[in-house]
Amino acid sequence: MNRVRMCGHLVAPGRGYSPGLGPTPGSSLISRPEERSLESRLVASTAPHASPDPLAGLEDRRLLRDLAYLGGAWVAADDGTTFPVDDPSSGTQIAALPRLGAAETRRAIEAAGDALPGWRAMTAKQRARVMRDWADAMREHSEDLSLILTVEQGKPIAESRAEIEYAASFLEWFGEEAKRLYGDVIPTPIPGRRVVVLKEPVGVTAGITPWNFPSAMITRKCAPALAAGNTMVLKPAEQTPLSALAICELAERAGVPPGVFNVVTGAAEDAPAIGEEMTSNPTVRMVGFTGSTEVGKLLMRRCAETVKKVSLELGGNAPFIIFDDADLDAAVDALESCKWRNAGQTCISANRILVQRGVIDEFTARLVDHARGLKVAGGTVDGAQIGPLIDQQGFDKVTKHLADAIDGGAKVATGGGPHELGGLFLQPTVLTDVTPDMVMSCEETFGPVAGLIPFDTEEEAIRIANDTPFGLCAYFFTRDMATAWRVGEALEAGIVGLNTGFVSTEVAPFGGVKESGLGREGSYYAIEEWVETKYFTFAGL
Ligand code: ADP
Repeated sequence: MNRVRMCGHLVAPGRGYSPGLGPTPGSSLISRPEERSLESRLVASTAPHASPDPLAGLEDRRLLRDLAYLGGAWVAADDGTTFPVDDPSSGTQIAALPRLGAAETRRAIEAAGDALPGWRAMTAKQRARVMRDWADAMREHSEDLSLILTVEQGKPIAESRAEIEYAASFLEWFGEEAKRLYGDVIPTPIPGRRVVVLKEPVGVTAGITPWNFPSAMITRKCAPALAAGNTMVLKPAEQTPLSALAICELAERAGVPPGVFNVVTGAAEDAPAIGEEMTSNPTVRMVGFTGSTEVGKLLMRRCAETVKKVSLELGGNAPFIIFDDADLDAAVDALESCKWRNAGQTCISANRILVQRGVIDEFTARLVDHARGLKVAGGTVDGAQIGPLIDQQGFDKVTKHLADAIDGGAKVATGGGPHELGGLFLQPTVLTDVTPDMVMSCEETFGPVAGLIPFDTEEEAIRIANDTPFGLCAYFFTRDMATAWRVGEALEAGIVGLNTGFVSTEVAPFGGVKESGLGREGSYYAIEEWVETKYFTFAGL
């Protein structure tokens, strides 16, 4: 999604571009730690459109930051340039944030390096206390954080509330887990020796996160990293930096020391320079990334130069298989969380819905009925279930997938195109007679489109499901225990959901196989990603 949009139009500002709301080169704001809130700018930004401030309901407006956070200071870009952040529901610009580059990223890394000795020297219990306070602060400000998230990302407010709770749960859970980051004592084969294993922090780490879960993808990385005693420089997605900065503000309030957690903001055009610094700077010892497979591969290649650890959560192409003996109501309900949630913009969205022929007519009827009842609206509207897509590029991708499927013979059972609300809103769509070779079966659609592929046998379903370079998540529905084991074991995916569409929890290992990634986030498996194992032997005893 490498575009900067302004008021609904794609624009590609150069590095010297300033949309008129942020500091300009030479202004008094440059490189000065700032305590301003966005309030005045919001008034300015919305006035010409005469549209109401979508963030007017915030109780604590200091959560709305318009500066990056380096070494405990709120800073503008060195050259004072900014980039616009839009509300995808209206296309209205809601903020202007600093366009940082390599130099500022380098300073953030230095700050993280300076903070490392003090943070890692704290006891796990002390770090856990800070992280618990941080999680509590997120919960206390859940309404404000949810509003910021919905306004910059577009998802329904109920989903944002759930995301904020999910995001806070990582801080709480990994803080607790830090206390159980045990080492080992291994029986020695050599007399007079002891063999000890220590778990130590990796050091300075970097995180790069996407726009679809602007809060949870951040804490899912920084929580295990910080809990284990690392420090972090984070680059949030250009579409959703406000959530990252609000989390940062709460980190500061919770007592996270300066330099332990830093946020570097930038436009899409700045991502390569920021990423290059993060992946080439020898101080950085690990990079955690969630995003496209293409960028993940690039980062991995770059990290090879200095042999950094990587944890990569990349694209998916989730199969969702319904066998003849399935509970069809449960299967339709499950699509609520793994097809319609976030307007289908999640990496674990059901992307290929495989339905056995014996139930396809009944399943289609129930799904169509359900889809027609979904409320499409701006995320802050009461009862909204499907919000806008994130940007024009995302919208165009979904409409291309739709056109390709329809050209190829798929039939529209409901929906099928733009919603009457216009802008970035799409109708929830159900397509039948989809085939495995259509573009929507081969690539992540990332939209509210359910394409149904018929199948006859279990072998055929497994073959289609595994016929992809991706392997993040797979779902299937059956009441038969033997089928459950056989299919569960045969599916090539890091996550498998049986009779459910909901798999996300902080206690379970989230991650993919094949080109869907490396490493796991969440659970005790994840904290292992963020530590080094040191073999320490004592001789001459
Ligand atoms: P999406 O298509 O979902 O936006 P991307 O992989 O493009 O996924 O973006 C995910 C994150 O990676 C965002 O924060 C984005 O700015 C960042 N990103 C994109 N390109 C690069 C790059 N060359 N180096 C570092 N980060 C990048």
